[in-house]
Amino acid sequence: MTELQKYSVDTSHLDFDPDEVRRKYIQERDKRIRDDGFGQYQHATGELAGFMEDHYVEPGFTRDALNDEVEVLIIGGGFGGLLAGAQLRKAGIEKIRYVEKAGDFGGTWYWNRYPGAQCDVESFVYFPLLEELDYIPKERYSHAPEILDHSIAIAKKYDLYRDTCFQTEVTELRWDEPSKLWTIYTDRDDKIKAHYVVMANGVLTRPKLPGIPGITSFKGHTFHTSRWDYDYTGGSCEGGLSGLADKRVGIIGTGATAVQCIPHLGKDAKQLFVFQRTPSSVDVRNNAPTDPEWAAKLEPGWHKERVENFSLTVSGRPKKSKPGKDQVSDGWTDVANEAEKMAREKPKTTPEQKKELLEVADLKKMEEIRHRVSSIVKDEETADALKAYYWQFCKRPCFHDDYLQTYNLPNVNLIDTHGDGVERITPKGVIIDGQEYELDCLIFGTGFELGSSYTSRSGYDVIGRDGIALSEKWADRPSTLHGIASRGFPNCFFLGYIQTGVSPNFTHMLGEQAQHLAYVINEGRKRGAKTIEPTQEAEDAWVNVIERTAESVERHFAKCTPGYYSNEGEVGNRNGFMNGQYGGGPAQFFQIIEDWREEGSLKGLEIK
Ligand code: NDP
Repeated sequence: MTELQKYSVDTSHLDFDPDEVRRKYIQERDKRIRDDGFGQYQHATGELAGFMEDHYVEPGFTRDALNDEVEVLIIGGGFGGLLAGAQLRKAGIEKIRYVEKAGDFGGTWYWNRYPGAQCDVESFVYFPLLEELDYIPKERYSHAPEILDHSIAIAKKYDLYRDTCFQTEVTELRWDEPSKLWTIYTDRDDKIKAHYVVMANGVLTRPKLPGIPGITSFKGHTFHTSRWDYDYTGGSCEGGLSGLADKRVGIIGTGATAVQCIPHLGKDAKQLFVFQRTPSSVDVRNNAPTDPEWAAKLEPGWHKERVENFSLTVSGRPKKSKPGKDQVSDGWTDVANEAEKMAREKPKTTPEQKKELLEVADLKKMEEIRHRVSSIVKDEETADALKAYYWQFCKRPCFHDDYLQTYNLPNVNLIDTHGDGVERITPKGVIIDGQEYELDCLIFGTGFELGSSYTSRSGYDVIGRDGIALSEKWADRPSTLHGIASRGFPNCFFLGYIQTGVSPNFTHMLGEQAQHLAYVINEGRKRGAKTIEPTQEAEDAWVNVIERTAESVERHFAKCTPGYYSNEGEVGNRNGFMNGQYGGGPAQFFQIIEDWREEGSLKGLEIK
């Protein structure tokens, strides 16, 4: 189906012209596609290194360098690393060490403590290991401190604090063939040997900054949202930013992070300027405290069932699964549900028509979200600028009940750049359309590095057998078996978005991957393996599956306004975040790896 091909399904019930809206989507996308793609951003290094400062630890931490050996070394203490650690502990592995650049466990939730930080995915499916920890989240959509506490609770439950190296960054991993061990080098001069390495580096870990001219010249106060400076703003994650009462504050970015912190900035700053390049779609949040009666009635096994139900509903069911009621039923699942409902009403729908129904359901949803803007924002021009014209999953959908209302406050100004972005930063502020906006504080809500290569995002290289670097092997695209291991890098396992089934519920995917890699390591140990790695044949076969199935995902992103989901418009660049993922969806991917484990022969792995 081409982008503007007439739909063959009935659209007469719509109270808008779908062709007109689709035409507008194309115009809005084309306005934003840039030749420099991901190259428009820069690393927070050199003169910009201050943006990486950890405000949550006491300065001056030192310790002696380590020169010893462990069984498993896990890089990263976010949910990926924690879930891997929990599974490995369950498998009876004692000597596990974490290397983590933060001052504690928590990953994303360690760093993202900005005011209003909250999880957009329902807590009852997002929080991992709820039944194991006998815990029920306090609200339907949890705030950051509770999620950080849960991370710490997992670490305590599985005794993962025992051998941690916090405030430590890996600088290189190097394989030693004679000893069949990895050596892990760090910025604290450690030289640790490990039989197995798990790279749980995380996804939203490296703040990215726009390459706006003059960015280093700003003389006021500045920071990135993932390194919130409460010493300057006052207050906490809950708000109360008293330090901003006499400040002119600017924020660049209107993504999921900005949507959550802007209501607090609007409430507390003397003046707030929001510099917008592309509006987010902002649907209702409808948060509520957990109903204790509902919680009391939950039967054992409820959590796994709900988590699986969410991934199935949001991303399509594999053939084996049973149909079932949408248990979460919120803004993430609306479009899929509506498309399914329309398909039920129209028997004999062809696969092509099913795709059309999905688009129609999406158009309806986004139209509803645009109406919501008009019904809340009083100034018409501001309301129009806040309307998102793209398919719902082109960018991260947002949910908030105070964001749009913030633009009705007299001290809040939306400065829309009509897709161009901020023109220049000066010592005094920000220039848009030739006009300078003077600021005391400039906040970057500009997101995280996702479009670069895996090793660039990791911040270190991995030198495998025969001195081959992972950055070389994966220069064009990753190459793995099931996203967790790559030939030439024995006993090294990856967690995260690499050739895997992407779910909006990131912790579900991490949990499945953690279970899978713990199974592989444990089976390897049982079989007395010195090394485990994919055979060339099995790896090539998986890469072929990815190439074949990723195409449908890329076809979707080619229709999109650029953002990190679509690799900033560089569709086809297999190093991007969503590109080069398993196109059959998470549920089908989880089924593939579960079937593989059940088969039991470690098919496609070379065990020596
Ligand atoms: P994003 O990458 O989503 O947003 C970055 C923002 O910066 C965009 O609005 C972008 O505009 C803007 N921007 C970049 N360069 C410029 C420029 N030169 N001039 C003006 N604006 C610019 O980052 P976020 O931190 O908001 O979110 C990252 C991710 O974190 C989310 O997508 C989500 O996955 C996760 N998150 C999850 C939450 C949860 O509920 N679980 C809550 C918050 C974040 P443009 O769109 O035009 O590129």
